[in-house]
Amino acid sequence: MARYRDAVCRLCRREGTKLFLKGERCFKPSCPIEKRGTQPPGQHGKDARRGKLTGYGEQLREKQKVKRIYGMLEGQFRSYFEKAARQKGITGDNLLILLERRLDNAVYRLGLATSRAQARQLVNHGHIQVNGRNVNIPSFQVKVGDLISVHESSTANVHIQSAFQTAGGRGRPTWLEVVDATKLVGKVTALPRREDVTQDLNEQMIVELYSK
Ligand code: SF4
Repeated sequence: MARYRDAVCRLCRREGTKLFLKGERCFKPSCPIEKRGTQPPGQHGKDARRGKLTGYGEQLREKQKVKRIYGMLEGQFRSYFEKAARQKGITGDNLLILLERRLDNAVYRLGLATSRAQARQLVNHGHIQVNGRNVNIPSFQVKVGDLISVHESSTANVHIQSAFQTAGGRGRPTWLEVVDATKLVGKVTALPRREDVTQDLNEQMIVELYSK
């Protein structure tokens, strides 16, 4: 049975939701979740009892889901949670906002990459600048007023160009604005809010998990 050969797509099937890990394919009808629904992968997928998950199991799955969406390892994710818990306001909201403010996420949200993994690679490889300076730290937290741009020598990069063109059709979050579509420059016009994260996430379960 080799229906879900793609490792990242299997993660989506496992979590029962689209995690958007595969780039452009995630937005097409060929996405396995679009084609086959959310039945868990594997031969016994039909019999898996995801619906029976309760309490701890459910909280754990929700944490895995968010970790996978943002490409975090446990230790990093835990530090985001601790930082979120120290901030004023609702810890779950703070957690998602801190994750959204990562530079790799902002690059993805601006449409300069088709997935967060690709965006992280762009940052790691020195293609991205913030306020005109090279920043190669994917976890860099963007702030209001920051200008995010593609390094001059990379603006013709076909992957970036193609991602940018297709992302335009899908729309961008309200906290980011394209200020120069030719030079590939975007601006952080506001801090992301909880409602800007449109994926179906239950961050309160993560808070409950870590608060045990
Ligand atoms: Fe694969 Fe993307 Fe669909 Fe997930 S959302 S199953 S990564 S194509």
